[in-house]
Amino acid sequence: MKEIAAKFKVKSSTKAADRNHRKTINFNIGKYNAVVPMGKQQFAELDLARERAKNIKWRAIETLDQQLESFEAAITARGAKVIWAADAGEALDEIGKICAEKNCKTLVKSKSMVTEEIHLNHYLEEKGIESIETDLGEYIQQLDGEPPYHIVTPAMHKSKEDIAKLFADKLGTDPSLTPEQLTLVARDILREKYRLAEVGVTGANFIIADIGGIAVTENEGNGRLSCSMPRTHIVIVGIEKVIPSMSDLALFWPLLATFGTGQRITSYNTIVTGPRQQNETDGPDEMYVILLDNGRTNILANPKQRESLYCIRCGACLNACPVYKNIGGHTYAATYSGPIGSVITPHLKDMGDWKHLSHASSLCGNCTQVCAVKINLHELLLENRHEAVEKGAFDYSEKMVWKMWKQAMLRRSWMNMSNGNTKSWFINKVAKAWTSHRGKLEFPKKSFNQLWKEKQSK
Ligand code: SF4
Repeated sequence: MKEIAAKFKVKSSTKAADRNHRKTINFNIGKYNAVVPMGKQQFAELDLARERAKNIKWRAIETLDQQLESFEAAITARGAKVIWAADAGEALDEIGKICAEKNCKTLVKSKSMVTEEIHLNHYLEEKGIESIETDLGEYIQQLDGEPPYHIVTPAMHKSKEDIAKLFADKLGTDPSLTPEQLTLVARDILREKYRLAEVGVTGANFIIADIGGIAVTENEGNGRLSCSMPRTHIVIVGIEKVIPSMSDLALFWPLLATFGTGQRITSYNTIVTGPRQQNETDGPDEMYVILLDNGRTNILANPKQRESLYCIRCGACLNACPVYKNIGGHTYAATYSGPIGSVITPHLKDMGDWKHLSHASSLCGNCTQVCAVKINLHELLLENRHEAVEKGAFDYSEKMVWKMWKQAMLRRSWMNMSNGNTKSWFINKVAKAWTSHRGKLEFPKKSFNQLWKEKQSK
Protein backbone atom coordinates (compact mmCIF):
# COMPACT_ATOMS: atom_id res chain seq x y z
CA MET A 1 0.00 0.00 0.00
CA LYS A 2 1.24 3.49 -0.84
CA GLU A 3 2.48 5.59 2.06
CA ILE A 4 -0.24 8.24 1.73
CA ALA A 5 -2.96 5.58 1.70
CA ALA A 6 -1.43 3.77 4.67
CA LYS A 7 -1.32 7.01 6.70
CA PHE A 8 -4.92 7.73 5.74
CA LYS A 9 -5.99 4.33 7.04
CA VAL A 10 -4.22 4.77 10.37
CA LYS A 11 -5.52 8.32 10.86
CA SER A 12 -9.09 7.30 9.94
CA SER A 13 -9.12 4.50 12.49
CA THR A 14 -7.82 6.80 15.22
CA LYS A 15 -10.18 9.66 14.44
CA ALA A 16 -13.25 7.44 14.08
CA ALA A 17 -12.67 6.26 17.66
CA ASP A 18 -12.18 9.79 19.04
CA ARG A 19 -15.38 10.51 20.96
CA ASN A 20 -14.53 14.16 21.67
CA HIS A 21 -14.03 14.80 17.98
CA ARG A 22 -17.33 13.16 17.19
CA LYS A 23 -19.12 15.18 19.85
CA THR A 24 -17.81 18.52 18.53
CA ILE A 25 -18.51 17.65 14.90
CA ASN A 26 -21.99 16.36 15.61
CA PHE A 27 -22.72 19.55 17.57
CA ASN A 28 -21.49 21.87 14.80
CA ILE A 29 -23.05 19.91 11.92
CA GLY A 30 -26.25 19.70 13.99
CA LYS A 31 -26.38 23.51 14.08
CA TYR A 32 -25.85 23.58 10.30
CA ASN A 33 -28.61 21.01 9.75
CA ALA A 34 -31.00 23.06 11.88
CA VAL A 35 -30.67 26.26 9.80
CA VAL A 36 -30.29 24.97 6.24
CA PRO A 37 -33.98 24.00 5.83
CA MET A 38 -34.94 27.57 6.79
CA GLY A 39 -32.58 29.04 4.17
CA LYS A 40 -33.99 26.69 1.55
CA GLN A 41 -37.46 28.12 2.06
CA GLN A 42 -36.45 31.21 0.08
CA PHE A 43 -36.53 29.15 -3.12
CA ALA A 44 -40.00 28.69 -4.58
CA GLU A 45 -38.65 25.66 -6.45
CA LEU A 46 -35.39 24.55 -4.94
CA ASP A 47 -34.87 21.64 -7.28
CA LEU A 48 -35.31 23.88 -10.30
CA ALA A 49 -32.85 26.41 -8.84
CA ARG A 50 -30.22 23.67 -8.43
CA GLU A 51 -30.90 22.39 -11.94
CA ARG A 52 -30.53 25.90 -13.38
CA ALA A 53 -27.29 26.43 -11.50
CA LYS A 54 -25.96 23.16 -12.88
CA ASN A 55 -26.92 24.20 -16.42
CA ILE A 56 -25.21 27.57 -16.04
CA LYS A 57 -22.03 25.92 -14.78
CA TRP A 58 -22.27 23.38 -17.61
CA ARG A 59 -22.32 26.23 -20.13
CA ALA A 60 -19.49 28.04 -18.36
CA ILE A 61 -17.25 24.98 -18.29
CA GLU A 62 -18.06 23.90 -21.87
CA THR A 63 -17.01 27.37 -23.07
CA LEU A 64 -14.32 27.92 -20.47
CA ASP A 65 -11.72 29.34 -22.88
CA GLN A 66 -14.13 31.97 -24.22
CA GLN A 67 -15.45 32.86 -20.77
CA LEU A 68 -11.98 33.41 -19.36
CA GLU A 69 -10.87 35.47 -22.35
CA SER A 70 -13.98 37.62 -22.05
CA PHE A 71 -13.18 38.11 -18.34
CA GLU A 72 -9.58 39.00 -19.11
CA ALA A 73 -10.49 41.53 -21.79
CA ALA A 74 -13.04 43.33 -19.60
CA ILE A 75 -11.01 43.49 -16.38
CA THR A 76 -7.80 44.44 -18.21
CA ALA A 77 -9.67 47.36 -19.79
CA ARG A 78 -10.25 48.65 -16.24
CA GLY A 79 -6.59 48.47 -15.33
CA ALA A 80 -6.20 45.03 -13.67
CA LYS A 81 -3.44 42.67 -14.77
CA VAL A 82 -4.35 39.05 -15.49
CA ILE A 83 -1.73 36.32 -15.00
CA TRP A 84 -2.24 32.73 -16.19
CA ALA A 85 -0.54 30.21 -13.93
CA ALA A 86 -0.20 26.60 -15.09
CA ASP A 87 0.70 25.29 -11.63
CA ALA A 88 1.35 26.21 -8.01
CA GLY A 89 5.02 27.03 -8.69
CA GLU A 90 4.15 29.61 -11.36
CA ALA A 91 1.49 31.19 -9.15
CA LEU A 92 3.88 31.47 -6.19
CA ASP A 93 6.62 32.95 -8.39
CA GLU A 94 4.25 35.64 -9.62
CA ILE A 95 3.06 36.48 -6.10
CA GLY A 96 6.69 36.55 -4.95
CA LYS A 97 7.63 38.99 -7.74
CA ILE A 98 4.72 41.32 -6.95
CA CYS A 99 5.53 41.29 -3.22
CA ALA A 100 9.22 42.00 -3.90
CA GLU A 101 8.29 44.91 -6.18
CA LYS A 102 6.05 46.40 -3.47
CA ASN A 103 8.65 45.76 -0.78
CA CYS A 104 5.95 43.87 1.09
CA LYS A 105 6.59 43.00 4.74
CA THR A 106 3.00 42.32 5.81
CA LEU A 107 0.28 40.72 3.74
CA VAL A 108 -3.36 40.27 4.74
CA LYS A 109 -5.23 37.34 3.31
CA SER A 110 -8.91 36.52 3.27
CA LYS A 111 -10.19 32.94 3.27
CA SER A 112 -9.16 31.13 0.11
CA MET A 113 -8.82 27.39 -0.45
CA VAL A 114 -6.69 28.03 -3.54
CA THR A 115 -4.03 29.71 -1.40
CA GLU A 116 -4.09 26.57 0.77
CA GLU A 117 -3.71 24.47 -2.36
CA ILE A 118 -0.51 26.29 -3.37
CA HIS A 119 0.76 26.58 0.25
CA LEU A 120 1.05 30.35 -0.02
CA ASN A 121 1.60 31.05 3.68
CA HIS A 122 4.55 28.69 3.84
CA TYR A 123 6.08 30.27 0.71
CA LEU A 124 5.68 33.80 2.10
CA GLU A 125 7.07 32.80 5.47
CA GLU A 126 10.24 31.57 3.73
CA LYS A 127 10.51 34.95 2.01
CA GLY A 128 10.28 36.72 5.38
CA ILE A 129 6.82 38.14 4.69
CA GLU A 130 4.22 38.01 7.46
CA SER A 131 1.01 36.60 6.00
CA ILE A 132 -2.03 37.03 8.25
CA GLU A 133 -5.26 35.09 7.86
CA THR A 134 -8.11 37.54 8.44
CA ASP A 135 -11.10 35.20 8.40
CA LEU A 136 -11.72 34.37 12.07
CA GLY A 137 -11.84 30.60 11.51
CA GLU A 138 -8.69 30.72 9.41
CA TYR A 139 -7.00 32.98 11.96
CA ILE A 140 -7.75 30.41 14.68
CA GLN A 141 -6.29 27.67 12.48
CA GLN A 142 -3.22 29.75 11.72
CA LEU A 143 -2.66 30.40 15.43
CA ASP A 144 -2.84 26.65 16.01
CA GLY A 145 -0.52 25.86 13.09
CA GLU A 146 -3.19 23.74 11.40
CA PRO A 147 -4.66 23.84 7.88
CA PRO A 148 -8.42 24.40 7.53
CA TYR A 149 -10.53 21.46 8.64
CA HIS A 150 -13.48 22.24 6.35
CA ILE A 151 -13.80 24.26 3.13
CA VAL A 152 -16.42 26.63 4.62
CA THR A 153 -15.91 26.31 8.38
CA PRO A 154 -12.13 26.07 8.89
CA ALA A 155 -12.23 25.49 12.67
CA MET A 156 -15.35 23.31 12.78
CA HIS A 157 -13.58 20.68 14.88
CA LYS A 158 -12.85 23.11 17.71
CA SER A 159 -15.21 23.90 20.57
CA LYS A 160 -15.43 27.39 22.08
CA GLU A 161 -13.43 26.10 25.05
CA ASP A 162 -10.68 24.86 22.71
CA ILE A 163 -10.49 28.29 21.10
CA ALA A 164 -10.42 30.15 24.44
CA LYS A 165 -7.54 27.93 25.52
CA LEU A 166 -5.72 28.47 22.22
CA PHE A 167 -6.01 32.27 22.53
CA ALA A 168 -4.81 32.07 26.14
CA ASP A 169 -1.78 29.98 25.11
CA LYS A 170 -0.84 32.00 22.03
CA LEU A 171 -2.01 35.52 22.84
CA GLY A 172 -2.01 35.51 26.65
CA THR A 173 -5.72 36.24 27.00
CA ASP A 174 -7.92 35.18 29.92
CA PRO A 175 -8.98 31.53 29.26
CA SER A 176 -12.52 32.27 30.43
CA LEU A 177 -13.26 34.77 27.62
CA THR A 178 -16.57 34.32 25.79
CA PRO A 179 -16.72 33.82 21.99
CA GLU A 180 -17.74 37.50 21.61
CA GLN A 181 -14.75 38.67 23.68
CA LEU A 182 -12.40 36.38 21.74
CA THR A 183 -13.72 37.81 18.47
CA LEU A 184 -12.97 41.34 19.70
CA VAL A 185 -9.40 40.32 20.58
CA ALA A 186 -8.89 38.96 17.06
CA ARG A 187 -10.55 42.04 15.57
CA ASP A 188 -8.16 44.42 17.34
CA ILE A 189 -5.12 42.47 16.18
CA LEU A 190 -6.34 42.17 12.61
CA ARG A 191 -7.31 45.84 12.25
CA GLU A 192 -3.74 46.81 12.94
CA LYS A 193 -2.51 44.30 10.33
CA TYR A 194 -4.79 45.84 7.68
CA ARG A 195 -3.26 49.22 8.44
CA LEU A 196 0.26 47.87 7.96
CA ALA A 197 -0.25 45.53 4.99
CA GLU A 198 1.18 46.52 1.64
CA VAL A 199 -0.57 43.67 -0.17
CA GLY A 200 -3.98 42.03 0.24
CA VAL A 201 -4.68 38.55 -1.16
CA THR A 202 -8.15 37.17 -1.72
CA GLY A 203 -9.67 34.26 -3.55
CA ALA A 204 -12.89 34.62 -5.51
CA ASN A 205 -16.14 32.73 -5.18
CA PHE A 206 -16.95 33.51 -8.79
CA ILE A 207 -15.20 34.94 -11.83
CA ILE A 208 -17.78 36.98 -13.74
CA ALA A 209 -17.03 36.73 -17.44
CA ASP A 210 -19.24 39.42 -19.00
CA ILE A 211 -18.33 42.39 -16.81
CA GLY A 212 -14.79 41.23 -15.98
CA GLY A 213 -15.21 41.05 -12.23
CA ILE A 214 -14.63 38.78 -9.28
CA ALA A 215 -17.29 38.09 -6.67
CA VAL A 216 -16.37 37.56 -3.03
CA THR A 217 -18.98 36.47 -0.50
CA GLU A 218 -18.27 36.35 3.25
CA ASN A 219 -19.67 37.08 6.70
CA GLU A 220 -17.00 39.13 8.42
CA GLY A 221 -16.09 41.95 6.05
CA ASN A 222 -12.48 40.79 6.10
CA GLY A 223 -12.55 39.90 2.41
CA ARG A 224 -13.74 43.39 1.51
CA LEU A 225 -11.05 44.97 3.70
CA SER A 226 -8.36 42.74 2.17
CA CYS A 227 -9.50 43.87 -1.32
CA SER A 228 -9.58 47.54 -0.55
CA MET A 229 -7.21 48.64 2.22
CA PRO A 230 -3.76 47.56 1.00
CA ARG A 231 -2.38 49.45 -2.00
CA THR A 232 -2.06 46.21 -3.99
CA HIS A 233 -4.73 43.54 -4.34
CA ILE A 234 -3.88 40.07 -5.62
CA VAL A 235 -6.68 37.66 -6.45
CA ILE A 236 -5.84 34.02 -6.90
CA VAL A 237 -8.58 31.84 -8.24
CA GLY A 238 -9.09 28.47 -9.93
CA ILE A 239 -10.16 28.76 -13.58
CA GLU A 240 -13.31 26.70 -12.97
CA LYS A 241 -14.90 29.42 -10.83
CA VAL A 242 -16.26 31.23 -13.86
CA ILE A 243 -19.92 32.13 -14.40
CA PRO A 244 -20.99 33.73 -17.67
CA SER A 245 -22.84 36.80 -16.41
CA MET A 246 -23.29 39.11 -13.44
CA SER A 247 -27.02 38.33 -13.57
CA ASP A 248 -26.18 34.70 -12.67
CA LEU A 249 -25.21 35.92 -9.19
CA ALA A 250 -28.93 36.40 -8.47
CA LEU A 251 -29.05 32.61 -8.34
CA PHE A 252 -25.55 31.69 -7.18
CA TRP A 253 -25.22 34.02 -4.21
CA PRO A 254 -28.35 32.81 -2.40
CA LEU A 255 -27.64 29.23 -3.40
CA LEU A 256 -24.11 29.33 -1.99
CA ALA A 257 -25.28 31.09 1.18
CA THR A 258 -28.05 28.58 1.86
CA PHE A 259 -26.07 25.44 1.13
CA GLY A 260 -22.95 26.79 2.83
CA THR A 261 -24.35 28.16 6.09
CA GLY A 262 -28.16 28.10 5.90
CA GLN A 263 -28.34 31.88 5.40
CA ARG A 264 -30.62 33.47 2.83
CA ILE A 265 -27.75 35.64 1.73
CA THR A 266 -24.25 36.08 3.14
CA SER A 267 -23.55 39.33 5.03
CA TYR A 268 -20.97 40.87 2.69
CA ASN A 269 -21.14 40.40 -1.06
CA THR A 270 -18.53 42.26 -3.06
CA ILE A 271 -17.88 42.58 -6.79
CA VAL A 272 -14.46 43.93 -7.77
CA THR A 273 -13.91 44.95 -11.38
CA GLY A 274 -10.43 46.46 -11.21
CA PRO A 275 -8.20 48.72 -9.11
CA ARG A 276 -9.33 52.17 -7.97
CA GLN A 277 -10.46 54.23 -10.97
CA GLN A 278 -9.70 57.95 -11.45
CA ASN A 279 -13.11 59.08 -10.20
CA GLU A 280 -13.06 56.76 -7.14
CA THR A 281 -11.80 57.59 -3.66
CA ASP A 282 -11.21 54.08 -2.29
CA GLY A 283 -9.51 50.90 -3.42
CA PRO A 284 -6.05 49.65 -4.29
CA ASP A 285 -3.70 51.28 -6.80
CA GLU A 286 -3.07 47.95 -8.48
CA MET A 287 -4.98 44.72 -8.92
CA TYR A 288 -3.65 41.39 -10.20
CA VAL A 289 -5.77 38.34 -10.97
CA ILE A 290 -3.97 35.01 -11.10
CA LEU A 291 -5.98 32.38 -12.98
CA LEU A 292 -4.77 29.03 -11.71
CA ASP A 293 -4.93 25.74 -13.58
CA ASN A 294 -2.92 23.38 -11.31
CA GLY A 295 -4.53 20.20 -12.66
CA ARG A 296 -7.99 21.58 -13.45
CA THR A 297 -7.49 21.10 -17.19
CA ASN A 298 -6.87 17.38 -16.48
CA ILE A 299 -10.44 17.30 -15.20
CA LEU A 300 -11.67 19.41 -18.11
CA ALA A 301 -10.13 16.94 -20.54
CA ASN A 302 -11.97 14.05 -18.87
CA PRO A 303 -15.58 14.05 -20.14
CA LYS A 304 -16.89 11.94 -17.24
CA GLN A 305 -15.22 13.92 -14.44
CA ARG A 306 -15.70 17.36 -15.99
CA GLU A 307 -18.89 17.79 -13.99
CA SER A 308 -16.85 18.10 -10.80
CA LEU A 309 -15.67 21.52 -12.04
CA TYR A 310 -19.20 22.85 -11.42
CA CYS A 311 -18.53 22.80 -7.67
CA ILE A 312 -19.18 26.11 -5.89
CA ARG A 313 -17.45 24.94 -2.67
CA CYS A 314 -20.53 25.22 -0.47
CA GLY A 315 -19.37 22.34 1.74
CA ALA A 316 -22.81 20.70 1.90
CA CYS A 317 -21.48 17.34 0.72
CA LEU A 318 -18.90 17.31 3.54
CA ASN A 319 -21.57 17.93 6.17
CA ALA A 320 -23.75 15.16 4.76
CA CYS A 321 -21.03 12.54 4.37
CA PRO A 322 -21.02 9.75 6.99
CA VAL A 323 -17.32 9.15 6.31
CA TYR A 324 -16.31 12.81 6.71
CA LYS A 325 -18.29 13.09 9.95
CA ASN A 326 -16.39 10.16 11.41
CA ILE A 327 -12.85 10.66 10.17
CA GLY A 328 -12.80 14.49 10.01
CA GLY A 329 -11.31 16.89 7.48
CA HIS A 330 -7.62 16.62 8.36
CA THR A 331 -7.51 12.87 7.84
CA TYR A 332 -7.82 13.35 4.07
CA ALA A 333 -4.44 15.20 4.14
CA ALA A 334 -5.56 17.09 1.04
CA THR A 335 -6.72 20.69 0.53
CA TYR A 336 -10.20 19.56 -0.51
CA SER A 337 -11.76 16.97 1.77
CA GLY A 338 -15.07 15.11 1.89
CA PRO A 339 -16.82 13.75 -1.21
CA ILE A 340 -15.80 16.54 -3.59
CA GLY A 341 -12.19 16.33 -2.36
CA SER A 342 -12.19 12.58 -2.92
CA VAL A 343 -13.44 13.12 -6.47
CA ILE A 344 -11.03 15.85 -7.58
CA THR A 345 -7.84 15.21 -5.58
CA PRO A 346 -6.71 12.14 -7.60
CA HIS A 347 -6.99 14.27 -10.77
CA LEU A 348 -5.42 17.41 -9.32
CA LYS A 349 -2.54 15.37 -7.87
CA ASP A 350 -1.80 11.77 -8.76
CA MET A 351 -4.24 8.92 -9.26
CA GLY A 352 -1.84 6.29 -7.92
CA ASP A 353 -1.16 8.19 -4.69
CA TRP A 354 -4.70 9.39 -4.03
CA LYS A 355 -7.05 6.72 -5.42
CA HIS A 356 -7.72 5.46 -1.88
CA LEU A 357 -9.91 8.54 -1.30
CA SER A 358 -12.41 7.24 -3.84
CA HIS A 359 -12.87 4.22 -1.58
CA ALA A 360 -13.48 6.42 1.48
CA SER A 361 -17.15 6.37 0.71
CA SER A 362 -20.14 4.20 1.46
CA LEU A 363 -21.58 5.25 -1.94
CA CYS A 364 -24.79 6.04 -0.06
CA GLY A 365 -25.41 8.96 -2.43
CA ASN A 366 -26.17 11.48 0.32
CA CYS A 367 -23.54 13.83 -1.14
CA THR A 368 -25.30 13.84 -4.52
CA GLN A 369 -28.62 14.38 -2.78
CA VAL A 370 -27.46 17.57 -1.03
CA CYS A 371 -25.17 19.06 -3.68
CA ALA A 372 -26.09 22.67 -4.49
CA VAL A 373 -25.37 22.15 -8.18
CA LYS A 374 -26.44 18.51 -8.45
CA ILE A 375 -23.05 16.98 -9.14
CA ASN A 376 -23.36 13.19 -9.28
CA LEU A 377 -20.67 12.83 -6.67
CA HIS A 378 -21.15 9.20 -5.71
CA GLU A 379 -21.11 8.15 -9.35
CA LEU A 380 -17.92 10.12 -9.91
CA LEU A 381 -16.34 8.34 -6.93
CA LEU A 382 -17.23 5.05 -8.56
CA GLU A 383 -15.89 6.31 -11.87
CA ASN A 384 -12.60 7.22 -10.14
CA ARG A 385 -12.26 3.63 -8.94
CA HIS A 386 -12.81 2.48 -12.51
CA GLU A 387 -10.28 4.96 -13.91
CA ALA A 388 -7.70 3.93 -11.33
CA VAL A 389 -7.96 0.35 -12.58
CA GLU A 390 -7.88 1.45 -16.22
CA LYS A 391 -4.73 3.46 -15.54
CA GLY A 392 -3.11 0.52 -13.82
CA ALA A 393 -2.95 2.38 -10.49
CA PHE A 394 -3.10 -0.78 -8.34
CA ASP A 395 -0.57 -3.31 -7.10
CA TYR A 396 -0.15 -6.97 -8.00
CA SER A 397 -1.60 -8.42 -4.78
CA GLU A 398 -4.75 -6.28 -5.12
CA LYS A 399 -5.16 -7.46 -8.70
CA MET A 400 -4.85 -11.11 -7.67
CA VAL A 401 -7.34 -10.78 -4.81
CA TRP A 402 -9.96 -9.29 -7.11
CA LYS A 403 -9.26 -11.88 -9.77
CA MET A 404 -9.88 -14.68 -7.30
CA TRP A 405 -12.96 -12.98 -5.96
CA LYS A 406 -14.34 -12.64 -9.50
CA GLN A 407 -13.69 -16.29 -10.27
CA ALA A 408 -15.52 -17.37 -7.13
CA MET A 409 -18.43 -15.00 -7.66
CA LEU A 410 -18.95 -16.28 -11.19
CA ARG A 411 -19.18 -19.91 -10.07
CA ARG A 412 -21.86 -20.81 -7.60
CA SER A 413 -20.41 -24.30 -7.25
CA TRP A 414 -17.13 -22.85 -5.90
CA MET A 415 -18.95 -20.91 -3.25
CA ASN A 416 -20.88 -24.01 -2.22
CA MET A 417 -17.69 -25.99 -1.76
CA SER A 418 -17.19 -24.64 1.76
CA ASN A 419 -19.84 -24.66 4.48
CA GLY A 420 -20.79 -21.82 6.83
CA ASN A 421 -18.20 -22.77 9.45
CA THR A 422 -15.37 -22.64 6.95
CA LYS A 423 -16.54 -19.30 5.59
CA SER A 424 -16.77 -17.85 9.12
CA TRP A 425 -13.30 -19.15 9.94
CA PHE A 426 -11.87 -17.68 6.72
CA ILE A 427 -13.37 -14.22 7.22
CA ASN A 428 -12.70 -13.99 10.96
CA LYS A 429 -9.28 -15.60 11.15
CA VAL A 430 -7.64 -15.36 7.73
CA ALA A 431 -9.09 -12.26 5.98
CA LYS A 432 -8.63 -10.05 9.04
CA ALA A 433 -9.33 -6.87 7.09
CA TRP A 434 -13.00 -7.48 7.85
CA THR A 435 -12.75 -8.00 11.61
CA SER A 436 -10.14 -5.27 12.23
CA HIS A 437 -12.95 -2.69 12.04
CA ARG A 438 -16.07 -4.77 12.65
CA GLY A 439 -17.55 -7.50 14.82
CA LYS A 440 -17.13 -11.14 13.80
CA LEU A 441 -19.23 -12.57 11.01
CA GLU A 442 -21.12 -15.81 11.56
CA PHE A 443 -22.23 -17.42 8.32
CA PRO A 444 -25.29 -19.73 8.56
CA LYS A 445 -24.48 -23.39 8.12
CA LYS A 446 -26.25 -23.53 4.77
CA SER A 447 -26.27 -20.80 2.12
CA PHE A 448 -29.48 -19.43 0.67
CA ASN A 449 -28.67 -21.26 -2.54
CA GLN A 450 -28.50 -24.58 -0.76
CA LEU A 451 -31.71 -23.93 1.17
CA TRP A 452 -33.47 -22.98 -2.05
CA LYS A 453 -32.33 -26.12 -3.83
CA GLU A 454 -33.53 -28.27 -0.93
CA LYS A 455 -36.89 -26.50 -0.98
CA GLN A 456 -37.30 -27.06 -4.71
CA SER A 457 -36.40 -30.73 -4.49
CA LYS A 458 -39.13 -31.44 -1.93
S1 SF4 B 1 -19.67 19.21 -4.64
FE1 SF4 B 1 -21.66 20.20 -4.44
S2 SF4 B 1 -22.17 20.00 -2.26
FE2 SF4 B 1 -19.96 19.56 -2.44
S3 SF4 B 1 -18.97 21.53 -2.06
FE3 SF4 B 1 -19.25 21.36 -4.28
S4 SF4 B 1 -21.20 22.37 -4.72
FE4 SF4 B 1 -21.15 21.98 -2.53
